[in-house]
Amino acid sequence: MESMVTRREHYAGSTLAASEALQDSWAPAIFNMALTNGLLAIAEVELPSEVSKGPSRRTPSARAIVEKLRSKFGDSDTIEIPDPAGQPTVVMCAHLLDAIDATDKPRHGTPAKRPLTRTDIDALVALDDHPALRALHDESLRAYDAYGAAAELTEWGRAADYCGLMGDDEVERRARTAWQHHDPDSGDAEPSECPVCLHTTVIATGADEYGYGITAGTCIVCSYTRSAYAARQENLQLEAERLLAQD
Ligand SMILES: [Zn+2]
Repeated sequence: MESMVTRREHYAGSTLAASEALQDSWAPAIFNMALTNGLLAIAEVELPSEVSKGPSRRTPSARAIVEKLRSKFGDSDTIEIPDPAGQPTVVMCAHLLDAIDATDKPRHGTPAKRPLTRTDIDALVALDDHPALRALHDESLRAYDAYGAAAELTEWGRAADYCGLMGDDEVERRARTAWQHHDPDSGDAEPSECPVCLHTTVIATGADEYGYGITAGTCIVCSYTRSAYAARQENLQLEAERLLAQD
């Protein structure tokens, strides 16, 4: 099934995650994922013959897209993709090719050639000016992300306090009812493990878009609510770990 997360959303989520976690070991893999998704979204508009959908789906590599964009729009280290309706999109081709070279390896199980830098993030964020993306300009997404991490910590504390008020019998009684709340016909994911009470009792409020079983939802034991933000962060981290573990 085609992922419900669009390339544009994947670009935005991974860009924000890589930017926040610049020094973490998994940041290069996340950066590479963000760049690949952002470039593919741009290629669908600017290089349509290079990207095709359906059974014969072709997805060129990030490196191939940068090289094709460069030969189409000026053949220099930094190019501008014109936009008749607004400002051009600056693509720092030479820098992006170096960043791809540095971050491709973590996706194949070996350490990155060099740490991720703020300039890498700047080059990634610059792509957002393209009409195919403009995902980071979404004020709600930006505000959501800024407050998301703090809200998540508050939510863990609140749910843990609430859970502490309950006796073991009540916790077990609630845990036993989890599957009664899952409607197999709804398309929602199955109950997933709660990070607060550790029961498999988070009732999903949507599909499992990344395939790791982590979705937004509410725990019927401790009342912890996993936001869409928290679900995305967890999924992106799992995705990065999977890429790092690949041979
Ligand atoms: Zn819980």
